[in-house]
Amino acid sequence: MDLTKIEPFEICSIRPPTENFSLTFRLTRNCGWNRCMFCPVYKEGVKFSRRSIEEVRQDVDRAKELDGLLAHYIPSIPSSGDSDYREAELLIGEIKVAQAKAGKKEPAHRKRGSKTETKRGAVRTGEEDKRSSWFSTWFKDEPTLEDSVYHLLAWRMNGAQTCFLGDSDALFLSSDFFAEAISYIKEMFPTLNRFTVYGRTQSAVKREQEEIKAFRKAGLDRIHFGVESGNDTVLKFMKKGASGAEHVVACQKTREAGISPSVYIMPGLGGAQWSTEHAVDTARVLTEARPDYVRLRSLEIFPGTGLAEAVAKGEFMEASEEQVVREIRILVENIKTDMVIVSDSASNLLDVSGRLPEDRAKMLKVIDEYLVLSPKGKLAFSLSSRLRSFIGQYGGLTQDIMAALQPYIQGDQVNVSGASEEEIGTIIRLIRSKLMP
Ligand code: SF4
Repeated sequence: MDLTKIEPFEICSIRPPTENFSLTFRLTRNCGWNRCMFCPVYKEGVKFSRRSIEEVRQDVDRAKELDGLLAHYIPSIPSSGDSDYREAELLIGEIKVAQAKAGKKEPAHRKRGSKTETKRGAVRTGEEDKRSSWFSTWFKDEPTLEDSVYHLLAWRMNGAQTCFLGDSDALFLSSDFFAEAISYIKEMFPTLNRFTVYGRTQSAVKREQEEIKAFRKAGLDRIHFGVESGNDTVLKFMKKGASGAEHVVACQKTREAGISPSVYIMPGLGGAQWSTEHAVDTARVLTEARPDYVRLRSLEIFPGTGLAEAVAKGEFMEASEEQVVREIRILVENIKTDMVIVSDSASNLLDVSGRLPEDRAKMLKVIDEYLVLSPKGKLAFSLSSRLRSFIGQYGGLTQDIMAALQPYIQGDQVNVSGASEEEIGTIIRLIRSKLMP
């Protein structure tokens, strides 16, 4: 095999957690809407673009070439994870040496977060840049050879069966284009048996039912919709571009086409001002929409977003952690149809997960155990929960978090019983400012 010809391919850094170990290809780049006030995801880096079928095929060919190389060099995959990663590292080294000898230069990759200006031209502060740089550690507009190899390795180690096609709205594409892309991917990677995408509910509403069926016929199994709220005031304020009623129609059309709808909901998105309406209307819309899965992503306000500006101007007041938990309680209590609730985001304070209606009591118990805590007990709970999420996400703590915790470390425990509520709140804010949703 000619190692000098190996090239990286574009992967989808932004994908649902269930697709963490999927093979991914980009059919578009970025988000064609890109107006949601709370969303930091595509506010910098490359602008929205469609990709041609030739570009997609080129990426699939590159992935196939690399995958063949992996299979050749590490025929034992999946074995023990560590040894596979060591082998992959050696392979990357060999490719780089071969390419350097052939005089091939590594492409200068554009790094997300390296700019000091947002898309709107607002200069970022030092704090904002820090959070931006957290993003750049895992978001890659233009993946490197390492990214591509480890992406394929993780996919192979996890069964080599699932594929996610990005970026943010596959229903924006023509079904013919989608069918052509997916057919080529299946031909090159015949072990794939599940294809999923992100979609905007507004795009599903605009599509004829026959077109959505054509996506299913092409092989699409699930669409992850960003529903966020069922309350129209909240949706309008957040510039979501769809109403609660449209969310319902989108999920119904998707289900009728034989595609599984899965939705993201954002507790906290109504802020303190619309907290109850947000929760009540979201429960009603979910009951009518009947998605298979509801994934909870509690609101985190990111610097550089329209929502951060609204907070600074006093137009939006963040809901307290307790209000957000009460919203989730309203959801669990009021959703009147079968669906699975999943709490698979580090942004959530509590792990409220289960199938409705049978797990309703179990989920309410988790919520109520938190709600009966004293104000300080709630803060101590939050600190421990946020620390767990942070370590789960990054594998350890940063120096500034360690320094903030230092006065409260006793042996291998953190004990904040002597700290004031304000002191605990400050540490929680520091940790949350670095967590990724
Ligand atoms: S549609 Fe999705 S990706 Fe696009 S701006 Fe809204 S939340 Fe972000």
